[in-house]
Amino acid sequence: MTQNERILLILSDPATLELLDRSILTPAGYRVSVAQSCAAAEKLIRSGRPDLVILGDKLTDCHYLELASKIVDQQPTLPILLFTTDRSASLPLKVLRMGVVDWLSPPIRANAILEAVRRGLDRRTHWMNWLQLESRRYTGPLERRVEALETLINIGRSVTSFLELDNVLTAVVDAAVELTGAEEGSILLLDDESGELYMRAARNFQEDFVRTFRIPVDDTLAGEVVRLGKPIHFDAKDPTKIKTSYLVYALIYVPLRIHNRTIGVLGVDNRQSGNAFSQRDVMVMSALADYAAIAVENARLYSESELERNKLGRILTQIKDGVIVVDNSWNILLVNRMVRRIFNLGEDDYSGQAIDDVIQNEILSKAIRGELDDPFRAELEIDENNVFSIQVTELPGIGTVVTLHDITYLKEVDRLKTDFVNAVSHDLRSPLTSILGYVELIDRAGPINEKQSEFIKKVQFSVNSITELINDLLNLSRIEVGGLSKEFEQVSIYSVINYAVEGYQHLLDAKDHKLVVECSEDLPPVFGNPIQMRQVVDNLLGNAVKYTPRGGQIGIYAIEENGQILIQVTDNGQGIPPEEHPNIFDKFYRASNAPEDIQGTGLGLAIVKTIVENHNGRIWVDSEVGVGSTFWVILPVA
Ligand code: ADP
Repeated sequence: MTQNERILLILSDPATLELLDRSILTPAGYRVSVAQSCAAAEKLIRSGRPDLVILGDKLTDCHYLELASKIVDQQPTLPILLFTTDRSASLPLKVLRMGVVDWLSPPIRANAILEAVRRGLDRRTHWMNWLQLESRRYTGPLERRVEALETLINIGRSVTSFLELDNVLTAVVDAAVELTGAEEGSILLLDDESGELYMRAARNFQEDFVRTFRIPVDDTLAGEVVRLGKPIHFDAKDPTKIKTSYLVYALIYVPLRIHNRTIGVLGVDNRQSGNAFSQRDVMVMSALADYAAIAVENARLYSESELERNKLGRILTQIKDGVIVVDNSWNILLVNRMVRRIFNLGEDDYSGQAIDDVIQNEILSKAIRGELDDPFRAELEIDENNVFSIQVTELPGIGTVVTLHDITYLKEVDRLKTDFVNAVSHDLRSPLTSILGYVELIDRAGPINEKQSEFIKKVQFSVNSITELINDLLNLSRIEVGGLSKEFEQVSIYSVINYAVEGYQHLLDAKDHKLVVECSEDLPPVFGNPIQMRQVVDNLLGNAVKYTPRGGQIGIYAIEENGQILIQVTDNGQGIPPEEHPNIFDKFYRASNAPEDIQGTGLGLAIVKTIVENHNGRIWVDSEVGVGSTFWVILPVA
């Protein structure tokens, strides 16, 4: 025993202090400190942590027994030796009851003092050892539990941080072996194809064994765990004879379960020693098995989504349309192969770069920012041989997707059509002029009767209509090349409507249509070209007559509203499928439900729209198949 122990002397008499300290205790190797009052003593006990106290009976600021009882209360393992002159018979019993270990009385004899001190210190050592042992007995399992929890937490972390399934499963098996103190451990997974269990991770098994290990689910212990979804726990004392592929003394198998389905087994066993496993081991194993199952499922989901992502990635890059994806700050997230080709971008990775730095194109830049007239659609002409239709789609939370669809061939077809129409119209005009000429000459060639005269008028009317149509065609191609005639004047819509109605009266009658016209003669005029205004109403009324089955209801209404003339041409005919509404104003477009026996070129509405827009107006349609159609035209008052 070292003599380095600390002794606190609590004595008021300096002579006794001097004697005990200088002559006996310090020479014996003890570290002595001194307190001459209760207050000083309490302070030193707290800060100096003495191993033994020698307490005298002549303190002035408190009674020494009071102080003794306080010390015993606060530090029950600190031995107290009383140094007292009190020789009353009751004292020993009193102090023993209080917990004081010994008492001394003058005269001071070095030997007696040192022996008493030694006894006190030995007793303290004895107490301390016992305390340590006891506390270890209580904290040992707690420590192991904390260790198990820490391992579980670490495994949990690794499940979410490692994507490598092998690493997680090996960590799980290692933890299982270590926490249960087993000799070996393994994870068996169910092979969906063969229905067998194979060893996916192992600890302390031979590599060959791991590689070739395959067992059926029927008739094996691990298989039973899979079939029942419940843990198995046994040891050598267990009388049950259980079939395994190798002999073990003790074993735990717990199922790896995900969504109520068992996908494998986590196992530990002892083959050499007969050491048994506890129920707590089963619980720890179950927690570990949950982690392993989550890891296996995560890996499966990850590889599935990875596969899906690759597939989508490939589709996006290979697709024939150009695809640009930018984030909300217009930095590139993706440009596919077609976009690279269109803008000669090469193979660099442009992710994160501003789209305007990579592709300098005003229309594209505006389209991406939604700054074009139509925020979702635009036409982009790189050169004559590269014309694209741009579609802009916003993806909330991602940014904006722009697709570029090659419409060069459509442009070409369109040009060919225009050329063709031009040529045909030109070629038709001259024979028509000569027909009109000769028809006019008929009555000069000789007398004709009334009937013949009526027929001649009809021929003239028809030829005029055809000539008008041809003029329309030429008009249209002229519009496309250089705009419409701007010979504008004040035009009365009232007259335009009446003229149109007159022109269609015979057709209305022929089809038994009922026509309602509501238009005031006082309607203010619009500023426009009278012939074109007639074309608009003629076309709309003509369509209503054409596309409404016999006996239909047709209406033309015109009113003034807020400085605008609103014309409404309505029918209860066959209607137009809703998805085709945006197309019917396109050139040569005929709705899919247009009857074959009704002739048409698909040009009328294209001309109407162009004219209306040239008059700063707007046109749109409301239509329902089988119910009817209403065409609306708004024109500003002159
Ligand atoms: P078309 O010469 O074919 O009549 P238009 O440009 O005038 O060409 O019209 C385009 C198409 O719109 C028509 O072919 C027809 O399918 C549809 N359409 C136009 N007006 C009506 C209407 N009043 N009712 C039903 N369909 C109509």
